[in-house]
Amino acid sequence: MGLDWSVPIDTGPLPDDGERFDVIVVGGGPGGAAAASYAALAGNKVLLIEKAIWPRDKICGDAVGGKSLRHVKELGVKEMIEATPHFRVTGMMFSSPNGKQVTIPLPKDDVAKREAGYALPRLQFDYMMFLRATELVRDAGGKVVQGTSVSNVHHDETNLKITGVTIEGGSNSTHMAPLTIGAGGYLCPVAKKIVEELNLEKLRDEMHYCGAYREYWTGVKDVGDSEGSIELHFVDDVIPGYWWIFPVNENVVNVGIGMVNAERRKQTGIKKSLKKLQHYLIHEHPRFKERFVDATFVEGSGKGWELPFGSPRKGAALQPRRTAMAGAICVGDAASLVDPFSGEGVGNALLSAKLAISLFDREVHSEGLPVEVADEYMVRLWEELGPELSNSFKIQRIVRRKRLMNLFVRKAAKRPALQAALTDALASKEAQKKLHNPLWLARNILL
Ligand SMILES: Cc1cc2nc3c(=O)[nH]c(=O)nc-3n(C[C@H](O)[C@H](O)[C@H](O)COP(=O)(O)OP(=O)(O)OC[C@H]3O[C@@H](n4cnc5c(N)ncnc54)[C@H](O)[C@@H]3O)c2cc1C
Repeated sequence: MGLDWSVPIDTGPLPDDGERFDVIVVGGGPGGAAAASYAALAGNKVLLIEKAIWPRDKICGDAVGGKSLRHVKELGVKEMIEATPHFRVTGMMFSSPNGKQVTIPLPKDDVAKREAGYALPRLQFDYMMFLRATELVRDAGGKVVQGTSVSNVHHDETNLKITGVTIEGGSNSTHMAPLTIGAGGYLCPVAKKIVEELNLEKLRDEMHYCGAYREYWTGVKDVGDSEGSIELHFVDDVIPGYWWIFPVNENVVNVGIGMVNAERRKQTGIKKSLKKLQHYLIHEHPRFKERFVDATFVEGSGKGWELPFGSPRKGAALQPRRTAMAGAICVGDAASLVDPFSGEGVGNALLSAKLAISLFDREVHSEGLPVEVADEYMVRLWEELGPELSNSFKIQRIVRRKRLMNLFVRKAAKRPALQAALTDALASKEAQKKLHNPLWLARNILL
């Protein structure tokens, strides 16, 4: 076994009160760790702030897709992952409301090159991302703090720009920088400041926020040991939500359930509670209970969290919503970028972090990231992610329709050509466009 992710991370000396930085990063999840790493690699003096103390858990399905792996490799974290236990994802199994199922393999080349996807607990993945960020930030002359929360985001009312933060906990101090990155997840204080407080815009949207509940189990039957498929079940009792079973390690499985908040509010009975619904699926559902009969629940692992989807908001000028202003840029969940079909958010957190840092020049922007650059970030982010997030939103709506999902899985199980198209669609967002093209659907499913 490589790295031990149960060992505390030494983040070094605290910053002095008033110490200035080129870039302040609020939040040390994948988005923040990547932003801090990219900023340090570009020679910036960075302050990386995380409110939790490592190692820390993050409620997630734990799948790390191909998009994430490209960044993870670039930052030198892929080798660290490969030296620790992880599950190699070779395919995705879908089941439909009537109980039919189909497994779509991921592209063989990507699997062979170890670029298709992994699943491993976020406790482990995030630890490695943060450890690497700590190394890079400190090497470039910056500081890293943990167990320290951002309590105030500063705004210069004369020049209309974000100027820095005050932190509390490990260090009680105030810091200024021309660029503050908001990477604090869906409750990020930087996102709240720039969206709700300063621009009086809507931060939360229940049509585009998804509630989710996760548990870890050991001893679940019919899952791979170190490689195989991850499972997404669109069963009758769960639609309009979905249920996942993702092996993450030898004998350990991440089991969870998600449903868009606005849909969940309409449900009655056990469907109102994701925890109760999952309990029913595990202990009573005729298709699944046998697989859990000898399984053991990992105590303390049952927790809920939210996914801020990046689906387009109807009529909004900025999509999916405002993510930047002079002096500040939000990335990852703080920018509401989770894929509305797959629930994947790590890849977009890493991509947005890289984009944000690529637009910043510490010499040219020493007086603060100008509003034009903040606007450019929002435009480029949506140019890059808008098409795939919009496609995924359409697919999310298709899979909620029980009869269509039944038909789709039945045909996909029988037709190799359709399976091949779906394999492409899992690897390439461009190919996903087919999945909501009415002509393509009619040819492949209805005929
Ligand atoms: C149940 C569930 C299942 C999911 N499954 C998957 C999946 O399988 N694959 C996938 O790719 N994505 C999945 N996602 C989405 C994924 O978890 C997120 O998109 C991803 O974690 C976003 O990373 P982030 O760095 O933007 O935010 P986060 O991971 O939320 O990190 C934010 C960090 O900021 C810190 N922070 C918050 N406030 C402050 C503050 N005031 N001061 C300092 N620090 C602060 C937090 O402690 C945290 O460490 C899932 C999400 C959920 C809820």
